[in-house]
Amino acid sequence: MSLVIETKDLWRVYPSKNHAEGIPALRGINLQVETGTFVTLKGRSGSGKTTLLNCLAGLDKPTSGTVHVLGHDLMQMSDDELTAWRRDQIGLVFQSFGLLPTLSAYENIELLLRIKGDEYEARDKRALECLEIVGLGKWKDHRPYEMSGGQQQRVAIARALANEAKLILADEPTGELDSKTTHELLKFFRELVEEHKITMLMVSHDALVDEYVHEVLELRDGVVIGN
Ligand code: ADP
Ligand code: MG
Repeated sequence: MSLVIETKDLWRVYPSKNHAEGIPALRGINLQVETGTFVTLKGRSGSGKTTLLNCLAGLDKPTSGTVHVLGHDLMQMSDDELTAWRRDQIGLVFQSFGLLPTLSAYENIELLLRIKGDEYEARDKRALECLEIVGLGKWKDHRPYEMSGGQQQRVAIARALANEAKLILADEPTGELDSKTTHELLKFFRELVEEHKITMLMVSHDALVDEYVHEVLELRDGVVIGN
């Protein structure tokens, strides 16, 4: 068994003016996610889902415990190292898509690769490849507002894939989509995981996800149930 994510007794306590002891968003998370699996993380609002995803992406620093992602010990890395690591190895997808409205689908992806420092030809090839993977090759010149919600989310996923991410962390990516589009996107995620040997951890409230994922985890008051 090879693990993409492993946390041990992971705590994240936010400082608070009103509570001297702080707000414990994560209270000792022990999580293991195997390579090549599609896993969903459920839990009511405020249960710590976003905090956990941020800690796994190196966007937030846990208060204590250990977190290993893709073989890296994130607690031992500097902010600069985490930024470079995230850019090279992690794909992030959010509910609000996060596309730049004035850029076409192609340009949204190409920009990320430009920031990463890839040469023009490599950027062009990879951007087109990723749009093909998500089935939007013909839509490359369209801007976000000319596309449906499901299509925009696919562009965001193509962008997440563009850096050859081995791990995709998605925070409620279907939150703004109707149920038909949600089904299509979940089917697509499942295929993506299986065909490209990617691991995907997706936060979702949606009951629809259960039939598409390999594992369902639940966060309750900062602790994972069911892993
Ligand atoms: P979820 O994504 O499951 O809704 P969050 O991870 O956003 O949950 O929040 C978990 C808990 O941590 C909540 O009680 C929330 O109010 C608190 N929290 C989240 N972010 C911050 C922050 N930046 N500062 C203080 N408290 C926070
Ligand atoms: Mg959240």
